[in-house]
Amino acid sequence: MAAPDPVRMVDFYAQKLQDIKQQITDLNQEKASIEQELINLVGAQEEGSSAHETTFFKVTTTGKIDRKVITKHLSTVKEVVTPEIFNSIFRLNIASDQPLEKLNEDPSWYECKLCDHHAICHGEQVPTVNCRTCLHASAVDQGQWHCARFNLLIPENNQRVGCQAHLFIPDLIQRFAEVIDSGEYWIRYRLKKSGECFITGEAPEQFNSRELRAVEDKTLLTDNHIQTLRTTFNAQLVEDAA
Ligand code: SF4
Repeated sequence: MAAPDPVRMVDFYAQKLQDIKQQITDLNQEKASIEQELINLVGAQEEGSSAHETTFFKVTTTGKIDRKVITKHLSTVKEVVTPEIFNSIFRLNIASDQPLEKLNEDPSWYECKLCDHHAICHGEQVPTVNCRTCLHASAVDQGQWHCARFNLLIPENNQRVGCQAHLFIPDLIQRFAEVIDSGEYWIRYRLKKSGECFITGEAPEQFNSRELRAVEDKTLLTDNHIQTLRTTFNAQLVEDAA
């Protein structure tokens, strides 16, 4: 097969580049128009709060900029819009520092029962440890995540595993514990069932996030015998590998 003519290849790639630039422009316009639509749904007032709810979205705003879009029936939305539109809507949700509302408060609701996250949302299971569940992380421009603990942009691979300084966003474990007190790198929680307290943090005597996840029975976090074993043997609670 003859080698491609260099001049024609240059034309070919130049045209391709032009097409891509046009697509980017079109998508940005589409994104801007969707964002404007969402603002229109709740009114573009500078102050005050407002909410608008549809079958698919709940849009709330406390001003022109600070708005939250809660997407319900996510899988249905995904089917009826293009990936670009879906992503531009979902991107707005990243700004939320709280978990989205449940589809239903009743754990026996059929959609909840079919969901992989039922045990976290309705039970006492602790989410996985990664930067997205850490209170030190926040979403910043261009899809990047920033760590306030170490003051850096977090490489994507590190985001998936977190680090030893991970602290859960308190809302993610509010099913079984409430915040009582906190310091620079620790949080004291009270178990809702027993009223007893435990501390999660970076120091060896404090439970790290992986240990919170390791115990199904959360009263073990306030058990003095467990604490004695941890300190005596410099040990940690770990998930059952079986
Ligand atoms: S402290 Fe660790 S887990 Fe938390 S955001 Fe920073 S790098 Fe991620």
